[in-house]
Amino acid sequence: MRRPFVAGNWKMNKSVEQATLLVADMLPGLEAVKTVDRVVCPPFTSLMVVSGMLAGTEIGLGAQNLHWEESGAYTGEVSPQMVKEFCRFVILGHSERRAYFGETDETVNLKTKSAIAAGLTPIVCVGETLEENEAGQTESVVSRQVKKGLDGISKEQSAFLVVAYEPVWAIGTGKAASAQQANDIIGGVVRRNLASAFGSEAADLIRILYGGSVKGGNAAEFFSQSDIDGGLIGGASLKAEDFVQIVEAAA
Ligand code: PEP
Repeated sequence: MRRPFVAGNWKMNKSVEQATLLVADMLPGLEAVKTVDRVVCPPFTSLMVVSGMLAGTEIGLGAQNLHWEESGAYTGEVSPQMVKEFCRFVILGHSERRAYFGETDETVNLKTKSAIAAGLTPIVCVGETLEENEAGQTESVVSRQVKKGLDGISKEQSAFLVVAYEPVWAIGTGKAASAQQANDIIGGVVRRNLASAFGSEAADLIRILYGGSVKGGNAAEFFSQSDIDGGLIGGASLKAEDFVQIVEAAA
């Protein structure tokens, strides 16, 4: 029903030369797994060269951010139309952008709407911090992020969405959520909110990923859960062998 989806978030890593080597390394392994949507998200500086390497393959390319305006006096920013020149995907609202660059549910919403309008598939990230988790606020925080982040998006447009549930305390810490825990939040909170927004039929078609310390060794357990449709992978997407192993686990 929902085709598995695995995206690698390279964050602020890899020069153009290193990106070229990494993609060359992972490409044969990624190409072999036909039943999974496979996406790599390098920094902006490598998008052009990587898009050339991926031309003619089924591997998708994504950016890690964009600005919602089409063009203008926004020094340092990149528009959806610019991203679309190279990419089909864009990661939006990653917790690092929320924590370090002041992104809010409102700006994530502006970005999500303009990404879809430009023909991109946004991978919209939600997830609670450790403090929120310990205060028992996971459900309210994640619900709010989903509702506000996707406000104003139509049922038809929801077909172009991917959502990633990434508990902040699990990102880059080596301390993943349990597969059961992640599935409960993804099914019980994220998908339930998508159903309130778009109806249950549309919500059942939206891929929801888990992200947070996914590795080759634990990926299969996450991907075998009923509501987890794949992964957003940080650290392990920087090693060809690890990323391919995770993609294979999703197949
Ligand atoms: C991420 O950055 O989206 C992520 C999930 O990172 P990691 O896999 O390193 O925890």
